[in-house]
Amino acid sequence: SRQFTRPLNDLANQWNTLLSAVAGAERVFDVLGEEEERVDEGAARELAEVKGNVVFSHVTFAYEGRASTISDVSFELKPGDTIALVGPTGAGKTTLIQLLCRFYDPSSGSIKIDGTDTRMIKRENLRSHMAFVLQDPFLFEGTIRENIRYGKLDATDEEIEQAAKLANAHTFIMRLKSGYQFRLKQDGSGISQGQKQLLAIARAILANPSILVLDEATSSIDTVTEIKIQEALQRLMQGRTSFVIAHRLNTIQQADQIVVLQDGHIIEKGSHSELVDQNGYYSSMVSGQLKNGMLNESS
Ligand code: ADP
Repeated sequence: SRQFTRPLNDLANQWNTLLSAVAGAERVFDVLGEEEERVDEGAARELAEVKGNVVFSHVTFAYEGRASTISDVSFELKPGDTIALVGPTGAGKTTLIQLLCRFYDPSSGSIKIDGTDTRMIKRENLRSHMAFVLQDPFLFEGTIRENIRYGKLDATDEEIEQAAKLANAHTFIMRLKSGYQFRLKQDGSGISQGQKQLLAIARAILANPSILVLDEATSSIDTVTEIKIQEALQRLMQGRTSFVIAHRLNTIQQADQIVVLQDGHIIEKGSHSELVDQNGYYSSMVSGQLKNGMLNESS
């Protein structure tokens, strides 16, 4: 059946959601169409294991026909580190993620994972070491069990349940009339936005990747579910290198490194306390534009 043509469709579907926030649908399909035809370089290889050391080194990139979108971006993450990407809409946060998973490659500079240039890693292999938890998680028509199993196709029912428990999803699943056999509609209706996120977290826990990409929800989720999500995310992020497109001050404060982007370049970089001390953009963003614990993105 069409639903298990992993991993390209998996990624395409997830990215479809993320990309459509910034690009018109047409452009999204252009990008994805292009992607399917792109062939890995002859010398590209597969990494059997990834520890999660990620180094962006003077990364510069421009979308075709556009002035530079990312300029000279450098940072280094040790395995297990969390980086919060902060900055106004259009700053380049999504593009950095697209470069990380090779939807595009830098025009100059490099991205290395455990010392290997990503251009030398086969795309499918590279992405098999990553999981995505996006604002509007990709769920397909099928049971809850099938939707979680998508993270690891050969997972047993016990593994699925264990992942759901760690993701704080088990309790709500058991309250549904058919439990894990509950069928989600194509549009995911029948469960709440927050519950969808818990399923996405369960799926990511099951996938057990070294590198995580989280796109924090900007829409409001009820407080009880929000606490469950935060707790589940903490468990998921433990020991994994995490990229968070962050909107919540709490998340940002806890990051090992905060990168503030504006117009494609880093304007500030450091920990929360370092950046507050700098009295710059971040500091004024935190003190002046906080609304309900969320950072107001308009610059
Ligand atoms: P953010 O995630 O911080 O909101 P993006 O990385 O999405 O920022 O966008 C950075 C810039 O690149 C913006 O000016 C955006 O319009 C542009 N951009 C994003 N995607 C594309 C694309 N596929 N083609 C051309 N320009 C794009």
